[in-house]
Amino acid sequence: MKDNIYSTVAENFQKAAERLGLEETIIKKLSIPKEKIEICITPKLAEGIVSTVAYIVRFSDTLGPSKGGLRMAPDLTCEDIVGLAMEMTWKTAIIHVPFGGGKSGIALDPTSLSPEDKEVVVRSFTRNAKRHIGPEIYIPAPDMGTNETDMGHISDCISFSEGVAITRGCFVTGKPQILGGIAGRKQATGRGVCHCIRAAAEKLGLSIKDMSFVIQGFGNVGAAAAHALAREGGTITAVADIFGAICNENGLNVRELDQHVCENNTVVGFSESEEIGSNEIFQLECDCLLPAAASEQITSSNAAGINARIIAEGANSPTTPGADAILDEKDIFIIPDILCNAGGVFVSYLEYVQQTQHEQIGETEVNSRLAERMNRCFHQTYDYSQKNRCSMRQAALDIAIRRVVEGTYSRGFHP
Ligand code: NAD
Repeated sequence: MKDNIYSTVAENFQKAAERLGLEETIIKKLSIPKEKIEICITPKLAEGIVSTVAYIVRFSDTLGPSKGGLRMAPDLTCEDIVGLAMEMTWKTAIIHVPFGGGKSGIALDPTSLSPEDKEVVVRSFTRNAKRHIGPEIYIPAPDMGTNETDMGHISDCISFSEGVAITRGCFVTGKPQILGGIAGRKQATGRGVCHCIRAAAEKLGLSIKDMSFVIQGFGNVGAAAAHALAREGGTITAVADIFGAICNENGLNVRELDQHVCENNTVVGFSESEEIGSNEIFQLECDCLLPAAASEQITSSNAAGINARIIAEGANSPTTPGADAILDEKDIFIIPDILCNAGGVFVSYLEYVQQTQHEQIGETEVNSRLAERMNRCFHQTYDYSQKNRCSMRQAALDIAIRRVVEGTYSRGFHP
């Protein structure tokens, strides 16, 4: 069977359940989603009405309301959203915020939509999904193919439909700051990735300022991580996006590259670089490879050729279990996705608190709390992996699953 997001996440869970010796009943409860909703949406766009499908999955609400991003991608399936929602369940648990795991998705290609059409699609999704969204139910955020503008439209659509200026509680995170969003949310996932890389580098006797980085994906996560790493003196030698890949072994100027992407929508064509094949980036020699795009990018076909000391999983589920085994043999230090990219959901939690408490949390406080939480959770995971002689992925999953198991037993199995 071909690997997909769900098969990867489910296989990793099954292995963890065996390691932890979980009972059959709890394995069953933890391996199926609590709720799966499929919604038909028919927005009227400039070229006419389109008919597509959207999904909301609340995988778990054991530790709190289900939290997870809204993805927009053409080939999206319900199974993908289930896998991503399951992964969110472990991510909120490892980063220790009182949320469960959820995810939503719209099966459309965002790059084919004008900004006006995208707004219509997002509002159509929100109108139809409204009864499944709420501060105590499911709280979306940006994910692949969506951004803070889309979250602003979700927020407006919900408050408009309630006939109020502001909603009671936080219905969506990653909104523009002017609408109650929090400073630093947009960069939080990328900055969190950088905190993890710094901590991993220290364990390996390395330092970001002397390291080279290859990054797949230059969106919310990849670009923010590139900026954070460059600020600490790291050299970004190659970057890829959906349109192609570029490299410059002396280092790409991230600020200028950002400007180029704003103007051209792709990294391709950046002046101080050479274009290379998209798949070549996984074979380039570097200190750290940062997948920050799609899932299933590092597979048993390309893992053997990877030439990096660290892999920092900015993306969700970028490594298949087959690849994992090969990378383990090669002694590559992997910072697993549920830990590495959890900075976004942590700062979403701060946004949720800010809105619920009618508070204002400034960017300095956001950044220092993010740094503290990422470092603490990285070290907890690292210490567990050393003590139990297991990989960072196994350690992160074991800690996270144990917390959800404890929550499940504490709630009880009734009714
Ligand atoms: P985004 O849409 O902002 O950017 C995605 C980037 O990846 C773009 O540069 C795109 O061109 C590139 N890309 C997409 N498919 C590709 C492919 N097949 N090959 C090469 N490049 C490709 O998305 P994002 O929000 O940055 O999310 C990236 C990854 O990080 C996803 O896996 C997402 O689930 C995960 N993630 C995002 C957040 C967040 O806060 N946005 C949090 C946690 C995890």
